[in-house]
Amino acid sequence: MTRTIFIGNEWRPSRDGAVIDVIDPAKEERIDYLSAATAHDVDLAVDCARRAFEGEWRSVNGAERANLLRSIAKGISDRREQLARLEVIDNGKPLAEALWDIDDAAGCFSFYADLAQEFDAAQDETIALPDERFESSVRREPVGVAAQIIPWNYPLLMAAWKVAPAIAAGCTMVLKPSELTSLTSLKLAEIAVDAGLPAGVLNVVTGLGSVAGEHLARHPDVDKIAFTGSVPTGTKIMMGAAQEIKNVSLELGGKSPFIVFDDADIEAAVEWIMFGIFWNQGQVCSATSRLIVQEGIADRLVKRLVERARGIPIGNGLDPRTKLGPLVSRGQYEKVRQFVAQGVAAGARLVTGGEKPANMSRGYFIEPTVFTDVPLNSSIWRDEIFGPVLVVHRFSDEQQALRLANDTRFGLAAAVMSEDETRCKRMSEALRAGIVWINCSQPTFTQAPWGGYKQSGIGRELGRWGLGNYLEVKQVTRFK
Ligand code: NAD
Repeated sequence: MTRTIFIGNEWRPSRDGAVIDVIDPAKEERIDYLSAATAHDVDLAVDCARRAFEGEWRSVNGAERANLLRSIAKGISDRREQLARLEVIDNGKPLAEALWDIDDAAGCFSFYADLAQEFDAAQDETIALPDERFESSVRREPVGVAAQIIPWNYPLLMAAWKVAPAIAAGCTMVLKPSELTSLTSLKLAEIAVDAGLPAGVLNVVTGLGSVAGEHLARHPDVDKIAFTGSVPTGTKIMMGAAQEIKNVSLELGGKSPFIVFDDADIEAAVEWIMFGIFWNQGQVCSATSRLIVQEGIADRLVKRLVERARGIPIGNGLDPRTKLGPLVSRGQYEKVRQFVAQGVAAGARLVTGGEKPANMSRGYFIEPTVFTDVPLNSSIWRDEIFGPVLVVHRFSDEQQALRLANDTRFGLAAAVMSEDETRCKRMSEALRAGIVWINCSQPTFTQAPWGGYKQSGIGRELGRWGLGNYLEVKQVTRFK
């Protein structure tokens, strides 16, 4: 069966009938087909979103949007197991992690339901003016039709981060999931229909980035582009958007540091480091993929980490024992293998992993990998690998740790471990990243802003900042 495109609450094949194979990365087997949207299909979706935006959707108030968002959250929770299993066969992640994602996605819709509920009451905020003859108030209005382009690492969760705030704000949207993992975005469309979302508010076009994605991002009738993905694609999107001065927000890659000081508890540090680099096979934008460890603790920490990494159960994500699944695709598998080879060639010491597990002939599996003595100019230290590969470097004092941590073109996240609270505070202020974790790595809350400094992106998702992405601000000033 081919999964079709969702436009105006109707399902249709792509105009030219072209399809994309859906591959289970644990088995390297085709499990489904997706319609590959053409430029014409994207035009239809944008047109439909525009008509919905100009139509009755404008009069749906915040409380009604909140109810729709709550129904979608419930629809996701009701199908929790089904969605998680789809995520596993599409993306490869372990089932327990997929369940976590699905719960977070439902939580995201509930959170934005609460913001939508408060939306109307917060309108027309007056502002103090120095000239008493005038009176000014501020309104927040939906930005219009949003193009939302998302990656494959957290398929449904990334869709939720885009769709929920856009509905809360009163926008309409065209969502383009990754061609590698579209199944749960299409399920989200079904859930939205069941929840009563009016036709045209959410449209989902599946297809290639170079065709559907590019056409959508350059579409003249799109008011807002919200993109999550790699820096090269973000660059292209921003260049295209510049032609028409489009409102763009970008959530891009990272090479986040994890700094461990001598006084940290080793077992706790190992636990958080493992979570920071091996969760989701290391395919996490905020993965703390550079371990910067103080000399006095380094040998003991690395030894313990390697023991733990070697013990991670690898397998099909549907097997409840699995803690590390396959990478998402052949392309990603080959890219990570290439990074490992480059690391070895650059003179870094491969302490563990780097290979396909010996007992697994099929599937895009790679062992948990740790490199030490990593040259600072090597690509494994500088570039985002997006796989289960940790690179380690030692430091002697706080200033050196800080220099190493900040010496990157990225700035999404950073983690620090130390018993010394004053030092942690100093570090949190000096680290050039949008997210700083102290004595932990990766906890993510829908309430808190998410996004990066430098090449990790522009703007913030989640929390009230995520809602702001989809709003214009209008001042109304009158002469009394
Ligand atoms: P990608 O840039 O290859 O693709 C992302 C999306 O863009 C896909 O839907 C793809 O089809 C589409 N696309 C590709 N070319 C396009 C074009 N020319 N015009 C418009 N759309 C196009 O990224 P990916 O490999 O899917 O995802 C991995 C990247 O995403 C990593 O760099 C990761 O760090 C980043 N990421 C960032 C965050 C964050 O919150 N900052 C979250 C998740 C992933």
